[in-house]
Order: sequence, then C-alpha cells, then structure tokens
Amino acid sequence: MQYGVDERGYYGQFGGAYIPEMLFPNVEELRVNYLDIIESDDFKDEFQHLLRNYVGRPTPLYFASRLSEKYKTKIYLKREDLCHTGAHKVNNTIGQILLAQRLGKSKIIAETGAGQHGVATATVCALMGMECVVYMGEIDMARQRPNVERMKILGATVKPAISGSKTLKDATNEAMRHWINNPDDTHYIIGSVVGPHPYPDMVARFQSVISEEIQNQLQEVEGRNAPDHVIACVGGGSNAAGAFYHFLEDKGVNLIAAEAAGLGISSGKSAATTALGKPGVLHGSKTILMQTEDGQVVEPYSISAGLDYPGIGPIHAHLFDDGRAEFFGISDEEAMLAGVELSKLEGIIPAIETSHALAVFGKRTFGSDEVIVVNLSGRGDKDLETYIKWGKY
Ligand SMILES: *Cc1c(COP(=O)(O)O)cnc(C)c1O
Repeated sequence: MQYGVDERGYYGQFGGAYIPEMLFPNVEELRVNYLDIIESDDFKDEFQHLLRNYVGRPTPLYFASRLSEKYKTKIYLKREDLCHTGAHKVNNTIGQILLAQRLGKSKIIAETGAGQHGVATATVCALMGMECVVYMGEIDMARQRPNVERMKILGATVKPAISGSKTLKDATNEAMRHWINNPDDTHYIIGSVVGPHPYPDMVARFQSVISEEIQNQLQEVEGRNAPDHVIACVGGGSNAAGAFYHFLEDKGVNLIAAEAAGLGISSGKSAATTALGKPGVLHGSKTILMQTEDGQVVEPYSISAGLDYPGIGPIHAHLFDDGRAEFFGISDEEAMLAGVELSKLEGIIPAIETSHALAVFGKRTFGSDEVIVVNLSGRGDKDLETYIKWGKY
C-alpha cells in the first residue's frame, strides 16, 4: 500500500503522533485496539445497521445530466448531502461512538469550529444516551449560533473556549486538557482525518464506506467499478479521504482535491494549504500547514466554515507531495457561482464546502466519455444566510 498508513502511523513522511507525554496513554489505548475492534463482526454488524437505518445509506450515486451536458462530460454526484444531519460527518461519529463503547467509555468530548462536527457528535451521543461535552471558541459560538442551539437541543453541553483567539485552536486545547484529566471514562471524537495516529486512519476507514458504495454503484450503471476522476473538497480531508479510499492504489483513477483559496491564494485571506503551506506539526501530526517564517500557524480564511482550516490531513499532504492527487485552489467567488449553478441545473443546493469541488469544472476540462464522480459532501441549508448575503443568484 503506497498511499495507506504504515505501522508507525505515517503516510510517506507525514503523519505520526506528536503529542504531549500526558496524552500518550489515551492515544496508545486507541492505537492498540482500534483495528481489532473495527474489524470485528460485532462492530461491523452494528455499524452497517446504523449506516443503513439511521444515516440512510447507501446514499445515491446520481447521474447529473444537465451538469454533464454543460461541461460535456459524464458527471455523477455521490449524495452525501442526503445523509442524516446533511453531510458525511455522521459516518465518522457513528463509527467512533461504537468504538468508544467497546473501549468501555461512558463520556464523549469533541471540539468544533463551525459547529458541524459538534452537531454530528451531539447527534450520536443522543442516539446512544452518552454524556457529551463539545468545546467551541467563544467567537465561533457567536458566529455559529444555530449550531450551538442544535447541540443543546440534542442534549450536549457546549463549553466556550475563552483563551487565545477564542476559535478552533483554543477549543482543541481545552478538549485535550479535558481528555488528559479524564483518560478512563472519556473518548475524544475528532471530526476529520487529522490529529495523532491512529485518528487519520480510523476516520478514513469510517468514511471509506463512500468509495466502497461508489464502486458497487458504478459497476451497476457503467459496468465498471472505477471512475476516471474523483473530485472532493478538502478541509481537514475526511470526505475526500472517504471518496478516494478504495481508489488510492489504482493509478487509473485520477484524484482531485479542491481547497479553499478564499479571496485568492496570494490575498493573505486564504485556506489553500498546499499552495501556501510548508511541512510542520499541527494538531498532533506532521503535515503541510500554513505558517509564518518562524513557524507560527497562520489564521486561515474561507467563506466556507468547514474549509477554514490551516492544515490538511497527513494522507492528503502525502498525496500532494507524491503528485498522486491534483490540487486546485478555489476562490470564494468561484465556489459560490458553482453552488448556484448546481442549484439551477440539478435542483440541488450544495453546502458551500461542496461548491468548491464543483468549481473544478470551471478550472479544468474533461473528456466527453470520461466518468467523473463528485463527492457531494453536504447540503446547503446551513449556508442559506451566506448565499443570501452574497446575493448573486
Ligand atoms: C465539515 C465539512 C467539510 C470539510 O471537512 P472534511 O473533513 O474535509 O471533509 C466538507 N463538506 C461539508 C459539507 C462539511 O460539513
């Protein structure tokens, strides 16, 4: 496996577990147990059952005929927007809460920036009747009020992080501190393919249901189980990792990642990590991140809250470094236009994160008989206010 994780938790030169000593027992307990648990029949049965009956899987693979006509190629949309809660994130939180139960944990913590991962975590905690504490920067709480209220309705406690810049980074620090102090009864659910090993691999495995379904569904409609291209947006990279997973080693499948360029790659207001970043350590793993000359993390910017992250998961750093995946930086404007275009052509209002993936059609041409799968990571309901403020529709 050239693009899978190795035994030490690395993807090429990226990954690993760069953590404070006090966190070592928690992460080590996970590392030692995660594969045995998620490969057990008992786990697989319950995970499959919930994906089918609670999340609504398999999600459709929909041939977008009007969009295909416009770009003179064959475009399929993998409809993760139809998952319960409106995006792919719940695939992972279900996997992790089942794992936590099998490790004997009774409490869940998480951190969230935009609130989407917090909502997906609060959702599965309600489902399982487990106590849930979500850390969120005080500024993010004010910016993302509806998600804060959703978490509360679901029974979670939302704790404001009031130090530093009062955003995601500070919420992460608070969650880490909580976990260090409560190693026995608490599991920390991380929401993307980031963090120390084994998190990136664990999350990628839970999300890999996406590419597994794509294989089966393409076989049915196209008579082959692999497309020519898979396109996905990358924040931390979990929906992309899930959509790429079963195609990683198949060089016949071109992988395309869309990052948020914000107001433009060189505008100083961007989250285009591979274009702007350098290798370094972020949130417990070696990866590519946006940083100053002396290694300070640069504050990212994107119109899309879910892509507003200064790094990418180590698997994507490796795919970029190795040239296995193509990366595009998509500006706010390009993404918004692509989101409105899909709405008008197919009757699907996508999440603004997802719109970044759709904007790739404006950047690159595809052959008329090529088969392309776009991972439609989420629906746009949560972004209505941003669409309204932007106004061009
Ligand atoms: C959170 C989110 C993303 C970005 O997260 P990844 O881990 O990169 O997938 C993308 N799309 C939607 C709809 C999201 O909610």
